[in-house]
Amino acid sequence: MSIENYIRDIQDFPKPGIGFKDITPLLANPEATKECLDLLIKGLGDKKIDKVVGVESRGFFFGTLLAEKLKAGFVPVRKPNKLPFETISATYALEYGTDTLEIHTDAIQKGDKVLIHDDVLATGGTVKAVCELVERLGGEIVQCNFIMELAFLNGKDKIKQFEVYAPLKY
Ligand code: 5GP
Repeated sequence: MSIENYIRDIQDFPKPGIGFKDITPLLANPEATKECLDLLIKGLGDKKIDKVVGVESRGFFFGTLLAEKLKAGFVPVRKPNKLPFETISATYALEYGTDTLEIHTDAIQKGDKVLIHDDVLATGGTVKAVCELVERLGGEIVQCNFIMELAFLNGKDKIKQFEVYAPLKY
């Protein structure tokens, strides 16, 4: 079983000229979902994790599965004004404009060993902002993992100080 067969290319989404990697066929297939989860767990090795931080919204799917498997807590990082409790936020640059992400202030305890998960590493702007939030709360980032890395966008360069793992590379 190759999970690559369950990633669908959608041309011109969300904008003309962009090729989007669609993970819904993977999510729709339980064997492919299990294989992907197993690969992410294998890529982590025997590192201990206290909290898995999943990035809105496609980072929630495998983020919660990983947390359950690792016997860790799951923490959502969300777009502004979605989280009900006290939050801190990080703003990062997009091609045009900026975006902001938020996390609950009590989501991570000082010294927690944290795995950050999102579906895709593209330019790295999103995960860099998430790393900043986790570190501001005192979390220790053990690894950032993704289903896939769009290596030609060099996102890894933005989070050079952290370990990165992705079973699929394009
Ligand atoms: P970055 O900040 O690294 O440029 O973009 C990563 C974020 O955008 C992730 O949260 C990811 O979900 C989303 N993203 C960017 N490109 C794609 C893509 O081709 N497919 C999917 N599924 N998500 C993408």
